[in-house]
Amino acid sequence: MARTPLMAGNWKMNCNHVEAVGLVEQLAWTLKDFKYEPERSEAAVIVPFTDIRSVQTVIEGDRLPLAFGAQDVSVYDSGAYTGEIAAGMLAKLNCKYVVVGHSERREYHGETDELINAKAKKVIAAGMTPIICVGEVLEVRKAGIHVSHVLTQTKGVLDGIPAEQVAKLVIAYEPVWAIGTGEVATPQDAQEVCGAIRGYVAEAFGEEAAKGVRIQYGGSVKASNVVEIMAEPDVDGALVGGASLKADEFAKIVMFYTVA
Ligand code: PEP
Repeated sequence: MARTPLMAGNWKMNCNHVEAVGLVEQLAWTLKDFKYEPERSEAAVIVPFTDIRSVQTVIEGDRLPLAFGAQDVSVYDSGAYTGEIAAGMLAKLNCKYVVVGHSERREYHGETDELINAKAKKVIAAGMTPIICVGEVLEVRKAGIHVSHVLTQTKGVLDGIPAEQVAKLVIAYEPVWAIGTGEVATPQDAQEVCGAIRGYVAEAFGEEAAKGVRIQYGGSVKASNVVEIMAEPDVDGALVGGASLKADEFAKIVMFYTVA
């Protein structure tokens, strides 16, 4: 089963809905200029909730070759949960992807593997694809226990998800010390953990799930380092923060294959 790489731009809390339309259009024009081939690398924008309707309108209206999604979701379906957004609401807007368990949600909102697992299940039940984030903080890396730490997180976030669903979802390995810091893990660091995650998936969910699941690397990915990271066999794409806010830079990341 061939895995199409997924390059997902996590805009975080940047761009209002007017700016979002501008950035999406700029990205689409740049990709067109570069002769982008979507079947070789999938491009997605992961935007703030308030941008989704506008981004959907421009992408669907102009048939742009971009997927879009959200940065978080509620574990509840509806009701008295002020400020929450349900998976069904995101599915109704045609979101394809929903990021769950980003390290900023873990750090600033105390999200646990158990909660992230519940969110991922809601995303799947609503017919969307979760991008489930895992990754170690610097102290864990320094202690040399990053692989077992990330595998414990992976076990927790995938708990109870059927193997055929695991085959279709996305796991983003993001070492926290490399997010927004300019510090990039080496391609070998990325491969070490992405390979271990795939090994765990094979053991716990079977070979088919391991062959299908897409495992991204995330942490200060740029046009200048993406090619070497993507050359690793178990890296199936990137979750990109800062560099996804510049159309030209993100387009080059999406089109890493032209250099590879
Ligand atoms: C991220 O937000 O997931 C991320 C990887 O950010 P950056 O690319 O800016 O390090």
